[in-house]
Parts: sequence; C-alpha cells; structure tokens
Amino acid sequence: MAERLKVLCITGSSRSGSTILGAALGQIDGFFCAGEMQRIWDKDWLVNEHCSCGDPILSCSHWAGVFREVIGDYDAHLARRIRRARNSVVRLYGLPRLLAAQSLSELPAAVQDYVSLTERLYHVIQRHTGCNVIVDTSKYPTYSYLLRLAPSLDMRVVHLVRDARAVAYSWQRVKSYPTAKGMRYMERHTAPRSAAAWNVLNGLADLLWERNTAHYRLIRYEDFVAHPRHTFQAMLDLAGEPQAVPPLVGDDVLDIRSHHIIAGNANRFQTGRVRLRMDAEWQNQLGRLDAAIVTVLTFPLLRKYGYPAFGAVALPSQSQAPVVTPSSSAPPQL
Ligand SMILES: [Zn+2]
Repeated sequence: MAERLKVLCITGSSRSGSTILGAALGQIDGFFCAGEMQRIWDKDWLVNEHCSCGDPILSCSHWAGVFREVIGDYDAHLARRIRRARNSVVRLYGLPRLLAAQSLSELPAAVQDYVSLTERLYHVIQRHTGCNVIVDTSKYPTYSYLLRLAPSLDMRVVHLVRDARAVAYSWQRVKSYPTAKGMRYMERHTAPRSAAAWNVLNGLADLLWERNTAHYRLIRYEDFVAHPRHTFQAMLDLAGEPQAVPPLVGDDVLDIRSHHIIAGNANRFQTGRVRLRMDAEWQNQLGRLDAAIVTVLTFPLLRKYGYPAFGAVALPSQSQAPVVTPSSSAPPQL
C-alpha cells in the first residue's frame, strides 16, 4: 500500500489562534496550510470567499487548478449534496452515527463519497504543492475523527486550547475581511454562547482524540506564544517531521510569507514578520459579569487544561512588541 498522506489537523474551539498557528506551520518546508477544508462546501462558500493571497478562491493561482481537477466547474447542487453528507456525521446530531462506525463501509454511501472526495482533494493539493504534510485548521473534532477512516490519509491532531475568557472576548470584537460581495463582518457571540461552544468543541476533542496518544497533542495557545520553539518541536514530532525547521526569526518572531489559506480569521490576509506576545487585553476589556459567566460555565475544562479561575495563566513575561490577536471566522455550528 502506498504511503498515506499526512494531514495535521488543528482542532478545538474557534478563536483560539488556529489561523496564525496554521499560517506559521504552512511556512515550514514540506508543509502546506490549506485552511479550513471542512467549511468549503458551506453555501456559496467557494464562490464568495477569498483566498488569503487576495484573489477569489476559484480565481486563485493555486486553488483554481485544484478545484477544477477535483470537481470541474463549481456546481451549487453538487456542493449542497456534499454539504448534507458532511453535516450528517460532522454536526453534533451525527455524533452517534460517527461513534458507532468502526470503518468507512459502515457509514452511508453519501458519507463514503464525501470522504473519498475529501481524500482526492487532499491528494490533489499535495500534488500541486509537493508538500509532505497538509495543515488543516478545520477545528471540528468530528471532521478529523471521520477522516481517520479514510484509507489514504494519516490524520494527526493538534488540539489547540486557549483560555475561555480570551475566546469570549474575541467573539465580542468587531472584525471584517474581504469577500466577493464586499467586506464581511465576522459573527459575534455572547459570553454564554461562546462558553457553550468552547465546552462542546474542546470536550469533543478530548472525547474523540485524547486517547489516541500517537496521533494527538494538546497545545495551549498561551504556551505557543510563550515558548514557540518548544511548541513547534512538539507539533513537528507529532507530524513525523522532527528535523523540519520552524519559521522563527530569533526566539519569538514568526516569518509569515505568501500563502493560500481559505477560510479562517481575517488575519490570514496578513504576511510579514510577527512578534508573538501574550494578548492580555481580555483581562481588562471583558466585562466582569461575562468573565464570571464564562468561568463558571467552563470551569471543569479550564481546570483540566491548567487555567486559573481568576487572572491569566502564569507564564514568563513578554516583550512589548505588537500583539497577535488570534481568532477565526468559523462560527461553531455543531
Ligand atoms: Zn490564493
């Protein structure tokens, strides 16, 4: 059997820093960051959204050829069929079906077709880029769990966690990015909704992946910012590429050059050197009531991941360089 294609999936809650982490991983020789592949069949997504290079996805010098090879011309009816099959196992209501399936053949034919199409998409991306590892920032733990059944894919999962209070503050901020229909304002959520989504997505990542120690690694965003070189090495080991060189200038500056990332936070359109620094803005800007609500609702998992009930996680002091504010456009719709 031919060697399986490695896919490094970043899973967990939205607004946890997956876009900047994925963009950084995509700078490593042999790695390509595709973005949130789970989202591409959302309604009119491929038609309306822009690649991080600035071009509409279907006109982008990278993605136009990839999608032409995988699906030919864009067909809204085909996208809807794929979306329905995806939702039937990736959304929360499909969890019992997903948990019960030990092999792909136990799932409905439409789901098998969806997995086959996704495999083909990844392999075409690999052929077009020549990469060894595809980085996918899809976040949904159910998506990577489904794709572990794909015979030609080797799924490795980075479970990225960020303090639930910082995530709640990110969901309250106004952000926008360009689409084919003009600027799109990213969705905003209340503190209780943000906490609920944080619990569901992180709890699912624990439930589905935590025991698979050979293919799973828990990474706190705060540790990535405080100790990027050490954290990169943990992810490179997970990806089976321990000799690869992280895109760091010095100890804490990311070197982000050109990329073709589809779906994700508005900051995916940025390139250049980015000094990592802990974003502590939420500690002053998130209202006390919202902070208390989020703390209470997420307390069991906060404690499990080592976050204190009050204040931020204790880490080494950071320089005074500009802050990287991670977030993602992907609203949790499980
Ligand atoms: Zn592009």
